[in-house]
Amino acid sequence: MTGLAACSSSRTDEGGAASSSAAASGDATNLAVGIAMPTRSLERWNKDGANLEKLLKDKGYTTNLQYADNKVDQQISQIQNMINEGDNILVIASIDGTALAPILQTAADQGIKVIAYDRLINGTPNVDYYATFDNYMVGQMQGKFIEDALDLKNQAGPFNIEPFAGSPDDNNAKFFFAGAWDVLLPYVQKGVLKVPSGKSPASDDEWQSIGIPGWASDSAQNEMTTRLNSFYAGGTKLDAVLSPNDSLALGIAQALEGAGYKPGPDYPVLTGQDGDKANVLNILAGKQSMTVWKDTRELAKRVATMVDEIATGADVEVNDTSTYNNGIKVVPTYLISPVVVTKDNVQDTLVASGFYSASDLGL
Ligand code: BGC
Repeated sequence: MTGLAACSSSRTDEGGAASSSAAASGDATNLAVGIAMPTRSLERWNKDGANLEKLLKDKGYTTNLQYADNKVDQQISQIQNMINEGDNILVIASIDGTALAPILQTAADQGIKVIAYDRLINGTPNVDYYATFDNYMVGQMQGKFIEDALDLKNQAGPFNIEPFAGSPDDNNAKFFFAGAWDVLLPYVQKGVLKVPSGKSPASDDEWQSIGIPGWASDSAQNEMTTRLNSFYAGGTKLDAVLSPNDSLALGIAQALEGAGYKPGPDYPVLTGQDGDKANVLNILAGKQSMTVWKDTRELAKRVATMVDEIATGADVEVNDTSTYNNGIKVVPTYLISPVVVTKDNVQDTLVASGFYSASDLGL
């Protein structure tokens, strides 16, 4: 609380003065929360921002929601503006988790508390809490899905797999890849899985060598097309593609379609993450095998609770105090469990929970 109490600047444009007494009494009506999201180009971040903004407004906070078009400089200047405007708490889903240390020093100097949202912020002591889905578990779910779908435990194989990893500047991508590769690499080492393109990291640490910058669908599509043309043209069968998320899976599915793959028994196992609508439609159409669904409403709720706890000086509830070392400190974290969604449980998960309506999905 000392941090917040030290902040006494105001947001006259929003009609609210963030005063030290407001912070001390936990009076949300006078506190402003800056929300820095990475990009509008992915469905999930739009939902994240909208959910969090609504929850905080309903609790009486003033909010300042910004999207940065996946541009690091833009995100830094948005955060600078939030500081200048007197926001008391910042919630940041970083673009490059290593680029925010200087601006967060400025925030800390003004007593502003920082919650890292979904992605850890590295190399700074000035990140107070982290709320995310269990990123390693996301990767494990993808790896185990491929293991089960190809029945790797029981069959000799060999099967052909093409692995992809997420954006090299996103700390989460490291965990997604490690989770999956810890399941799959032993099979690669035994020769049960083969990687015809040779894009097969020898260890988890080499994940960036197959990362797709900016999580861009079109780059994933180009990369998959190149691998298909170069290594599968002679009728080599592709059995599985490890895709860390839905935006990559969308591009990969397009490349598969372009190369003549049709939904059916010979279609490769294709993983994903997020439960974006286009991907759920692809799952229903047999063009993607699964997605790891992260109910972003749960993450927004957790972060809104953290904001309240910070504002009132209550203990901030966390459930992991050992995993997320940002290079300077272990950031106290609240982890939420993700859920595997396939064609068989779309109804029981995404529809039953109201994440999508049946008609959204043409069901
Ligand atoms: C998020 C994923 C998302 C990816 C691309 C990651 O940091 O955890 O949910 O698919 O970024 O935006």
